[in-house]
Amino acid sequence: MANKFLNRIRVSPDKQVDLARWSTNEDFGWNKAEALAELEQVKTRIDLLQQRLFAEDKRSVLLVIQAMDAAGKDGTIRSILSGLNPAGVSVAAFKAPGGREVQHDYLWRVHEACPETGMIGVFNRSHYEDVLVVRVKNLVPKAQWSKRYRHINDFERMLTDEGTTIVKCFLHMSKETQAQRFQDRLDDPEKRWKFRAGDLDDRALWSKFHKAYEEVLQHTSTKQAPWHIVPADSNSVRNLAVAKVLLSALERIDPKLPPDEAGLDKIVIK
Ligand code: ADP
Repeated sequence: MANKFLNRIRVSPDKQVDLARWSTNEDFGWNKAEALAELEQVKTRIDLLQQRLFAEDKRSVLLVIQAMDAAGKDGTIRSILSGLNPAGVSVAAFKAPGGREVQHDYLWRVHEACPETGMIGVFNRSHYEDVLVVRVKNLVPKAQWSKRYRHINDFERMLTDEGTTIVKCFLHMSKETQAQRFQDRLDDPEKRWKFRAGDLDDRALWSKFHKAYEEVLQHTSTKQAPWHIVPADSNSVRNLAVAKVLLSALERIDPKLPPDEAGLDKIVIK
């Protein structure tokens, strides 16, 4: 059942992606109450497997999240990681590079932020910005960014070979939903800080961003590090879908508790 769901949102390697044909409001038959209840069950499984991953201390999981503004990257991360042991989780957010970052190749800061053994790492934006915003805003020439799909696939293959399981989610929201969420942010003093004037510049480039996303999804969804297109108009559907993607990665690697030291099971503390 879970695999059937994942197959629906997973992008096959080299598959041409037309985002207009991917629903932003599919609910997979989950109503809100069911989605919330199932999320709790999925998180209970994630919690158990996270503890095993931490105890095993040999491998790691990396969840990459990319989206247009207001699709809910932060909300998803908060929802799926809350309740886990914070010591076993690392979250890295990537903004426009500055300082020493610009004096290195674009993967330098990304590699440094990758999860250590035993950890679940989450990227809020990622190295994919270097083929998305960088392309859309002409921050480097095409001759340079177009080579990056290959670098990224090679980099992710290396991480995979060395023990990191990578899963990637694109939170797919409609342009109307974005307008509504921006308006909600502007109207609510508690949320207004989230709005940047630059968000409107990016909104004006919506179709260019979508084209760039389509190519990313086509060229960098690989067997070892697949992309998932997650409908993101509904928060509860989005959160459950991403939680299931994370759980599937943990189940795939099936982390093992280290073997007991001989005789430990015979000890009785007095
Ligand atoms: P967010 O929108 O993720 O909540 P911010 O509002 O601080 O956080 O936006 C981060 C900004 O940094 C985004 O506009 C994003 O496109 C930009 N950014 C991230 N990585 C890069 C990069 N490698 N090159 C240029 N800009 C980047």
